[in-house]
Amino acid sequence: MDNDDKKPNTFVSTFRLALKPQGRSRCVGKQTENGQNTTPKILKGNKLEVSSATDSKQGRVQTVEAPCFKEQLRDCTVCDGGDTTFRGVLTGSQPLSVSWLHNGEKVNSSKVSFKNGVACLGLTECAPGNSGVYTCVAENSAGKKSSSAVLQITALTKEIPRTRNHELHSEVTVKTASREKTDLSSAFEGERQHREQNDKGPPVEFLDPPEKVEIRVSEQAQLQCEFRSSSLPVACCWIYNKVKPVTGGPRTSVRSTGTQTSVEISQADSDDTGLYTVIVRNRAGSAQHTVSLSVIDRPSPPASQPAVSQLSSQSLVLSWSGPSYDGGTAVLGYVVEVSQDEEDKSESWTEISRCKNTSYHIRSGLEPLGRYRFRVRAYNSAGISEPSHESGFVKMETAKENKVEPDTSVIVTIDTRHKVKDHYDVHEKLGVGKFGQVFRLSHRETGQVCAGKFYRARTSKEKSAARKEIQIMNKLHHPKLVQCLAAYDTRSEMVMVMEYIAGGELFERIVDDNFEHTEPTCARYMQQILEGMQYVHKQNIVHLDLKPENIVCVDTTGTRLKIIDFGLASELEEGKPLMVMHGTPEFVAPEVINYEPVGLETDMWSIGVICFILLSGESPFQGDNDAETLAHVTAARFEFDPEGFEDISDEAKDFISSLLKKDLRARLSCTEALSHRWMASFTPLNRRPTKSLNKRKMKRFLARRKWKKTGQAVLALQRMANLSCRPDSPGSSSEEPGWSQEAEEAIKSLDKQLQTEPRFQQTLKDVTLPIGATAQLTCLVDGYPQPEVKWLQNDEPVSKSCRVTTEQHGDGLCSLVLTDLKPSDSGVYACRAKNKLGEAMSSAKLKVEL
Ligand code: ADP
Repeated sequence: MDNDDKKPNTFVSTFRLALKPQGRSRCVGKQTENGQNTTPKILKGNKLEVSSATDSKQGRVQTVEAPCFKEQLRDCTVCDGGDTTFRGVLTGSQPLSVSWLHNGEKVNSSKVSFKNGVACLGLTECAPGNSGVYTCVAENSAGKKSSSAVLQITALTKEIPRTRNHELHSEVTVKTASREKTDLSSAFEGERQHREQNDKGPPVEFLDPPEKVEIRVSEQAQLQCEFRSSSLPVACCWIYNKVKPVTGGPRTSVRSTGTQTSVEISQADSDDTGLYTVIVRNRAGSAQHTVSLSVIDRPSPPASQPAVSQLSSQSLVLSWSGPSYDGGTAVLGYVVEVSQDEEDKSESWTEISRCKNTSYHIRSGLEPLGRYRFRVRAYNSAGISEPSHESGFVKMETAKENKVEPDTSVIVTIDTRHKVKDHYDVHEKLGVGKFGQVFRLSHRETGQVCAGKFYRARTSKEKSAARKEIQIMNKLHHPKLVQCLAAYDTRSEMVMVMEYIAGGELFERIVDDNFEHTEPTCARYMQQILEGMQYVHKQNIVHLDLKPENIVCVDTTGTRLKIIDFGLASELEEGKPLMVMHGTPEFVAPEVINYEPVGLETDMWSIGVICFILLSGESPFQGDNDAETLAHVTAARFEFDPEGFEDISDEAKDFISSLLKKDLRARLSCTEALSHRWMASFTPLNRRPTKSLNKRKMKRFLARRKWKKTGQAVLALQRMANLSCRPDSPGSSSEEPGWSQEAEEAIKSLDKQLQTEPRFQQTLKDVTLPIGATAQLTCLVDGYPQPEVKWLQNDEPVSKSCRVTTEQHGDGLCSLVLTDLKPSDSGVYACRAKNKLGEAMSSAKLKVEL
């Protein structure tokens, strides 16, 4: 063993010797190991003042500092075949000898060193036999001190350092050590830094875990998280959507080791989409991480067949509805296909274009008088959908034909002698409403494209409702309102012919990536709605079903709007209060729910709701279910979410607040709303710099409305709930709200899985020592909860004193130290470890030789 610490000894002046020894000092004069005589020593704390003959003559006294570990050895775990280094930092006067013990036996290794106060033992290519307790014993003439640590060998691939709260290396020592670095010491230094870093870390730490995994339906989903645990063993569990523990099954397997855990789902389907939270626990603590899995599929086909408008000799506009299910990921666009009706040719479909929107202007490839059918497919990142229903045959106009503009101010007389088919060809279905179905029509003579609402009119009540709508429409002639062009009322059918509106719903248009969406454009839309409704209200008519679906765009490119669907509209009569019980919960006014008289103001409330959604994408009264929504409405309870309204002016908020008044008399009228300062602030002369509004929430709003209508609500809402549920911060406790009871139990069971009864990994060893020596009996006991340890001598509890001390570390290392051995210390010593699961005992003989 090299004891080459050249640090000079400390000298104190004779003046010190002249002082009287302190009361607690003891005289311990004896012969040193090399037989050198020393004059009596005076022990003070761990310093020994030695006065040698020479020193006395020269009038000097030397102080000998007993060994002291400034940094203890640290436990570690290495994989089979790995390398490690034990290291302790020592102070104490020279000559200081350092030796190493493995399970109490002397280690003879060339990889030991002691330099600059740093004692190291290097172990390479560790095998299971290397595991056990390592002790570094430092001794000089003033005393002996030891430090022990445990080495565990595992079959794992990574080193997992075990932590123990020993004091950290001080700055000064690091600097001293690095000043005279040799190759070996610099390697040790790297090792030390590595450990210190790990020792400071959390009990369990995920190593770059995935946040999101996206796979296609029927593929295999693999969610894998690697982690570093400060100790072994570890227990892991996975919870699906905070509700269901993920367990192995025919399609699912869960695998965990000491460094990683994974869930594999074969043949994944959209029901597997969701949040998977993994919780990893060791005896010191736990960490959790959430991975979001999306199992995506091709979208379903567009919900409606394409409708044709703006037909000319060589061009037309096709429009259709998006798919009812997007496949779990955004629809990226549509494929438009055409089939020409040609004699002697079988039907064949050709792709004519791909587009992003739900409408497309076909400008080329169509011939005058050609007969075509169209269909559309939707696509997302998982693939292309099946085709939509096909449109009916469309006959292109002759090259010379002039387009007939609809007469928007026709006063319609209900035709009771003809059927609609006498005058119009009936094409594809455009939509289904509360009172019947809407088809595209083309006039037999003029070719004018119209929309025909075919009422369900079997009962007299249904018939009178249809007649009421036609009568009301006949009073409403305004460019911002859909126009009624004809009406048929025969025994077999009732049809209202309206101008065809090709642009689709306003909100669908807004979410299109190419469409400008700013506060001024919203003000322009609101202005158009108000202009239309101002006209309606002047006729003393109340719409009673104003909602985003009933605000449509005139064409596919512009921003002109029209209001449709007057199926629930009513004319107000002086002195005849009107109470209604219909509408859509999100948009209906409090007086409707309370079954109180409605008025023109009832529409103003709905206009306020539309404006709120238009600007923020959030629905002000939307609850988790209809009952909750209605409760919010009756309380007129809403707020401007700071995030949703971050970029929205105070004028706009005031505009909305002036409409969403519980008391209908306090709401603005259309005329007042049109002159509100928010409208005025966006006149062309008064343009302010404008910011694009975020469309993300509007998209969510539309998806929710669409799914509500198409019965996919459960799936969609679940998905939306998943999206809004953010992963929890790592390391948070399982006792946070949101876990289901089943999940809570799975998390609690992790701790149980870690529990073990006490077991000795290293037992006590018999030892024979001379009188006056120091005995250190060490053993390593494993068990969780941490066992309570008792020491016995000849079956009697060991009585502790300043000579007999015990120690127990968190990682299971237990020691009994007896200094200055006496013959009476001989005997059988036992270490008894006990926890709630059981008890274990290890014993050994200590023989003190005379
Ligand atoms: P209801 O009054 O029976 O609820 P709507 O008037 O709302 O019926 O019409 C049902 C659907 O038909 C609408 O959502 C829309 O897709 C389509 N539709 C109605 N009117 C027109 C029109 N004038 N032009 C084009 N499509 C229309």
